[in-house]
Amino acid sequence: MASKDTVVLGAGVVGVATAWYLAEQGRRVTVIDRRALPAMETSFANAGMVAPGHSYTWASPQALGILWRSLRDDSQALRLKIRFDPDMWAWLWKFMLNCTIDRTQLNTARKLSLCLYSQDLLQRLTTTQKLQYDRISCGALYLYRDEISLARAREKMRILTNGGVRLDILNADEVLKYEPALTSARKQIAGAIYCPGDESGDARMFTLALMERCRESGVNFMMDAQVQSIEANANKVIAVHTNLGVVTGDDYVLALGSYSPHMARPLGYRLPVYPVKGYSITFPTDQSYQPPTIAGVDENNLVAWARFGNRLRFTATAEFSGYDTDHKPSDFAPMLRVAKLLFPDGADYEHPEYWAGLRPMTPEGTPILGKSRHKNLYFNTGHGHMGWTMACGTAKIVADIMNGCEPPINITGMTLR
Ligand SMILES: Cc1cc2nc3c(=O)[nH]c(=O)nc-3n(C[C@H](O)[C@H](O)[C@H](O)COP(=O)(O)OP(=O)(O)OC[C@H]3O[C@@H](n4cnc5c(N)ncnc54)[C@H](O)[C@@H]3O)c2cc1C
Repeated sequence: MASKDTVVLGAGVVGVATAWYLAEQGRRVTVIDRRALPAMETSFANAGMVAPGHSYTWASPQALGILWRSLRDDSQALRLKIRFDPDMWAWLWKFMLNCTIDRTQLNTARKLSLCLYSQDLLQRLTTTQKLQYDRISCGALYLYRDEISLARAREKMRILTNGGVRLDILNADEVLKYEPALTSARKQIAGAIYCPGDESGDARMFTLALMERCRESGVNFMMDAQVQSIEANANKVIAVHTNLGVVTGDDYVLALGSYSPHMARPLGYRLPVYPVKGYSITFPTDQSYQPPTIAGVDENNLVAWARFGNRLRFTATAEFSGYDTDHKPSDFAPMLRVAKLLFPDGADYEHPEYWAGLRPMTPEGTPILGKSRHKNLYFNTGHGHMGWTMACGTAKIVADIMNGCEPPINITGMTLR
């Protein structure tokens, strides 16, 4: 069979991983992105956690209370402003339908299986391709500030342990043995859940390193190319129009993160992907500071941290504000307070790098993969708050589907709905 020309739209971590697995299967691949380099948008400065041990879906019975409180108090980790945005309200309605106990358990179990599969592929790729991305693979800590929330977390974690994840409950003293950098915050900590299998690493460094490997395998990167439209004829895509010209191929993969719905809508798709803004702040650190070594999340404040070589990053907030990625220093104040409280000597807090990105969220928390109604158009989008964790797995699944193979895990609920 002659090798097929395949066009991947989007060079985030998802698009580049997709290009890799397609090239590995012998396809000629072109990746198109509007930025000068891959991973300049949501994959740029995320929390960096590869965390099957935290693959709970956001839609849960508790989420309804959080949503309600966020309407009255914008200092919450979740920020929702009442405004006219039919897409946002349609999305929120579907999100609420997924907040039942049954849906939460089903969606989390599906997500977990995808995260575990993906982490396995990421580890293999890292080893075989010798990829460097400031990886730390010694687990992750999920911290709780009081006994009540720790007890609730212990209940909730069964859904993950039943799915094969090892999670250990630690008291405060045990937490300090794993992470001495938390010593001065001892009184603030009731305990933690430790997931030995979770890890962290810089998604952007990974994407750039994988781009180099893709290039060595013959993948063509067409950068600074804004996709303006996708042209289709009956049930087949025939071209992609960009500011640099028209690109054609045999098959096309849509991996534009939060922007996928914009490009899919003229073709008749209403992808349930909504941008949920998150913020990160990165500081320089070195041996003269006492940065944490294990990535983690302060579960009571929903602030995550991870160390990447000589950098320490904190991330937080889920904000519904459309496609706006602006930020101001006050947006980072709550997470900075948590950072300084947990790790007072963790980094040079005088030199912050601020960033905001848009999580391409689906109401269910699982991505949209595989076939569309156009016979040569495929989706790999909607990875939400765990696209770094799920990138390799979803890329391989989509490449397998395109080659007519059954995906190795069950992807029910992750196809076009
Ligand atoms: C604050 C925060 C913390 C996070 N933490 C984690 C974490 O700890 N672990 C985890 O697993 N995930 C995490 N995530 C989620 C993860 O970052 C995303 O799921 C992932 O980056 C999505 O990748 P993507 O390739 O789909 O999207 P993107 O990285 O946004 O890539 C889409 C690409 O499409 C391009 N593009 C868009 N429109 C066009 C167009 N019209 N023409 C040409 N190019 C276009 C963009 O330039 C971009 O390069 C976090 C996200 C945020 C915001």
